[in-house]
Amino acid sequence: MRVFKFGGASVKDAEGVRNVERVLRIHGENPIVVVVSAMGKTTNALEQIVAAFFREENGWQEILEKIKDDHLSVMEALFPHREHLVYQEVAHVFTQIRLICSGRPDPDYNVNYDRIVSYGEIVSTRIISAYLNDQGWTNHWIDARKLIKTDANHRFARVNWTFTETLLQQTIKPNQNYVIQGFIGSDDNLHATTLGREGSDYTASIVAYAINADDVCIWKDVPGILNGDPKVFDNVTLIEQISYREAIELAYFGASVIHPKTIQPLQRKNIPLRVKSFLQPESQGTCIGQGVDLYPALPIFIRKTEQGIIKISTRDLAFIVEENLSAIYDIFHRLGVRVNLMQNSAVSSRFCINNDPVITPLVLKELERLFDVEFIPDVSLFTIRHYTEETRKTLIAGKVVRMEQVTPKVWQIAASNESALQSPFLPKSSLSIDF
Ligand code: ASP
Ligand code: MG
Repeated sequence: MRVFKFGGASVKDAEGVRNVERVLRIHGENPIVVVVSAMGKTTNALEQIVAAFFREENGWQEILEKIKDDHLSVMEALFPHREHLVYQEVAHVFTQIRLICSGRPDPDYNVNYDRIVSYGEIVSTRIISAYLNDQGWTNHWIDARKLIKTDANHRFARVNWTFTETLLQQTIKPNQNYVIQGFIGSDDNLHATTLGREGSDYTASIVAYAINADDVCIWKDVPGILNGDPKVFDNVTLIEQISYREAIELAYFGASVIHPKTIQPLQRKNIPLRVKSFLQPESQGTCIGQGVDLYPALPIFIRKTEQGIIKISTRDLAFIVEENLSAIYDIFHRLGVRVNLMQNSAVSSRFCINNDPVITPLVLKELERLFDVEFIPDVSLFTIRHYTEETRKTLIAGKVVRMEQVTPKVWQIAASNESALQSPFLPKSSLSIDF
């Protein structure tokens, strides 16, 4: 069996849904489990509903109407007969959201979040499953909230692998097609949970692991994995083959091609992951799996935005020692701060962190009780994996560098954003290296 994943961008309108059918048709007889995200920007809109509902404000009603209208126009294009069952199924989902929002919010924000936001995937899969069935691609709609079992860590739920594996194996028959929601699951009390934003890739990987799939294919609006984000870097090239290990490293440094948790389960069972273009389904894309680390062997460029640098000095010019670092990391850990780069000198340390507007002020306040603290906001972190002198020089040009770190394979700088506005130019000649 194969597992295909279609993200929100690929099913943002009726044309996108028709294209899913086209892609599936090309793959003919293979039984496929199709994992689908919420359509377009539905998840963001549902997040706004949660925020208003949680503050017990009005405003959610209009947002909900807008989401409903958007879905309705997709359905009108796909299902000309208004008595089609799918209209009732979708109407029922919107009634459920309205019912929740007419009650009192749970005191835990994240519980409300999962309850409401999870409906985005329910609606999209209802529409897509029905459309595919109408077109003769016979499939069963299955409910991830009954199959992907997690703990109750709402918004960032962790998978209960044994339970999930059993349920998926019992449900998914080897010769049938299925449509299932990405991103969502449920806890022991059957309360909806979510796996973290952009978590549908991860769902595809969980399903593939459980049913021992032959491969996973993630369909995207890019030709595959490129050696840099084309919106940020010029002259990027398609990577044809990349090892699991290398892909995990890239995700760690902030490459946004695949959700970071996606690789590990696949690696454990040696299931290849393909990233392909839903616009050119015949082209080969990128294969992540066993084999060479990277082909073609190119430097990989990654930019991570929304960073900040915390500089911490001891008050009495005492050395920064293990005890101080342990206190600092304790604060980071407690408040959930992700450190992306760190540097020590005798009496000070610098940390480049994900700059969360809510969390960072709390962190700074706690640190200021113990140390002298400075903060540089508006920083971007640039990484070149498999850098060359040439690429390093080109990337650094014109930037106000706040931190720099070099290891044999990886070169990173944290630079202030005013200097990083123009996109770094990569001359094509600098792209090939031997390693
Ligand atoms: N719909 C969810 C999100 O937008 C999950 C996903 O797209 O993978 O984050
Ligand atoms: Mg999405």
